Amino acid sequence: MSEHLRTRHVSGDPEMTRSLASSFIRELPAGTVLSLVGDLGAGKTEFVKGLAAGLGYAGEVTSPTFTIVHEYRGGRVPLFHMDFYRLQRAHELDEIGLDEYLRAGGICAIEWGEKFSDRLPIDKIDVLLVATDVNQREIVW
Ligand code: ADP
Ligand code: MG
Repeated sequence: MSEHLRTRHVSGDPEMTRSLASSFIRELPAGTVLSLVGDLGAGKTEFVKGLAAGLGYAGEVTSPTFTIVHEYRGGRVPLFHMDFYRLQRAHELDEIGLDEYLRAGGICAIEWGEKFSDRLPIDKIDVLLVATDVNQREIVW
């Protein structure tokens, strides 16, 4: 049973995806975990750029595919941006300190979070992104 009612959003360009994410994160408290689900190029990283902007973080946001975790501090709460794409085994989550990040009083946004969803809190929010045209994305949360 979920208390979270899903809404479907349609984005027509990257800027709109960022702006949807910016508005969305304004309602979210510290401790929220977002699992970003969608194929390569669906817009997960673009969405996180909007999350960071919505928190008031002014720095650069880039894909953590190779570093696994990026920390963006200085906004309303810290944003921990993770990408599970290259992770293969659950013990790698301990190496990156996942549980510490989940408890660190920030907001976690995790690309490919569904790969290890059993390691995420049950009240995580799934954000599903689907490319429906070259510049169009369906985004559901
Ligand atoms: P992912 O992290 O899911 O692999 P990225 O956010 O890195 O995807 O890349 C999304 C790509 O799709 C970018 O090149 C972006 O410019 C492009 N794009 C086109 N239209 C959109 C849109 N409406 N929303 C987000 N990205 C879009
Ligand atoms: Mg990405």
